[in-house]
Amino acid sequence: QNNILLIRGITLLFLSCVTIRISLCFSSVPSTLKALSVDGHFNFDEVHHAARDFGNRYQFLPEAVLHPKSVSDIATTIKHIWQMGPHSELTVAARGHGHSLQGQSQAHRGVVINMESLQGPDMQVHPGNSPYVDVSGGELWINILHESLKYGLAPKSWTDYLHLTVGGTLSNAGVSGQAFWHGPQISNVHQLEVVTGKGEVVTCSEKQNSDLFHGVLGGLGQFGIITRARIALEPAPCKVKWIRVLYTDFATFAIDQENLISVEKTFDYIEGFVIINRTGLLNNWRSSFNPQDPVQASQFNSDGRTLFCLELAKYFHQDETDRVNQEIENLLSQLSYITSTLFQSEVTYVEFLDRVHVSELKLRSRGLWEVPHPWLNLFIPKSKIKDFANEVFGNILTETSNGPVLIYPVNKSKWDNRTSIVIPEEDIFYLVAFLTSAVPSSSGTDGLEHILTQNKRILEFCETAHLGVKQYLPHYSAQEEWQTHFGPRWEVFARRKLAYDPLALLAPGQRIFQKAI
Ligand code: FAD
Repeated sequence: QNNILLIRGITLLFLSCVTIRISLCFSSVPSTLKALSVDGHFNFDEVHHAARDFGNRYQFLPEAVLHPKSVSDIATTIKHIWQMGPHSELTVAARGHGHSLQGQSQAHRGVVINMESLQGPDMQVHPGNSPYVDVSGGELWINILHESLKYGLAPKSWTDYLHLTVGGTLSNAGVSGQAFWHGPQISNVHQLEVVTGKGEVVTCSEKQNSDLFHGVLGGLGQFGIITRARIALEPAPCKVKWIRVLYTDFATFAIDQENLISVEKTFDYIEGFVIINRTGLLNNWRSSFNPQDPVQASQFNSDGRTLFCLELAKYFHQDETDRVNQEIENLLSQLSYITSTLFQSEVTYVEFLDRVHVSELKLRSRGLWEVPHPWLNLFIPKSKIKDFANEVFGNILTETSNGPVLIYPVNKSKWDNRTSIVIPEEDIFYLVAFLTSAVPSSSGTDGLEHILTQNKRILEFCETAHLGVKQYLPHYSAQEEWQTHFGPRWEVFARRKLAYDPLALLAPGQRIFQKAI
């Protein structure tokens, strides 16, 4: 009898301890945060926005959203949560523009830091021999473009879409058609200011705290929050010749792409995309691109075919038109595209760089922007790209692609292997991006389930055929999968986590590490 009473007593004590601990973890959270002295403010009610992202598939409500006005707001908040120790369940996610795909910028029952509110000192452009700009980690690339253009300068390496934040793209890599030459955005940063998972504000660069610097670049937000970045600039052009040509044969298309990225005098931007079974394709292009040979082009029929489009751009100033035309002619004469499919356009530099925003506005007006986006981005070694293309474009994606499919090569020598990004082990590798949109509640080929099944088939093929593929903007749910993703680089990644965010407070939405409580 006594023993039973004792066991009951212990059980009750245990349960009440658990209850107290749970209530400490949850209900007391807002009050401890409310007590913090910050220049900005916390929001505890209007937190729904922070539970959404571009992917439109995962929604995790946070406890609070911090709208920081200063770097010290971020440091104070993280230090506070760090000092609560492992007894608190709170985690912290920086939210840039929330354009991730699977909840990476969300924090379930944690604190989301709205980086776009960060009002650091204004952007400071430093002209001179090696020009650069100092910006806040929450700054949008489109704003950096406009500010640096006032000085006739611009960043060297871009993403295709500029309404993304510096902290968001530097946590991944930042890849576009300039990367073959300049490397990704993470190869074009001189210095960062970072708030670590212990709430320490650290300035880092190649020379100063270099382990943190390299860790944070491509580090999926795991080691610190980027509050400031120093970004390399170059003289900006005014105009852009923008060119598209078509191929029916993948091997020919790939050879031309690889040749173009391997020579010094080449285009300033080199990308490509796959066109699956599109009707009246060239007619659609005609609103913004002129065919070189209108009669021949009008006879070209895209229906029911898989085509490969090489997309090129050459930058220039108004007074260089003749020279640039000559250079383009020379370069094009070395390519083996279908001659009747040469389309050209001349646009301003800003129009060219901000081109995806035009599509965004169109899609928004038709209610097609805020739909689920089950995107899949892969890095594929050059030696395996033909196997990949044969299977994926020959067997898996034959009817439609439900969105653009980008495919272009980059040079590995322009990527810094000290950073956290994981890429294939070959001198040239391809970025292949399936930028699909799903029609909500459709059960057809444009529905989410169908697209996810297709993605799965693509990934399974990559694995069984041992293509040595790495995911870009990676997403896994188990730590073993992350370990496989990082391969031999896992040890460094885990060591850095222990050094800079030992309680695993930061970027929980990546699901790499879990806070131990
Ligand atoms: P968020 O989604 O807000 O955050 C992404 C991750 O970074 C999260 O884990 C977050 O916690 C972390 N994070 C955010 N800010 C910081 C910070 N200051 N410090 C530390 N961690 C932080 N990518 C390319 O490389 N090339 C492209 O051409 C390209 N085009 C795109 C086009 C569109 C339409 C979209 C939606 C995305 C595109 N992307 C592209 C992907 C994009 O670069 C990433 O999704 C990027 O993370 C988005 O930036 P964001 O500011 O919205 O980041």
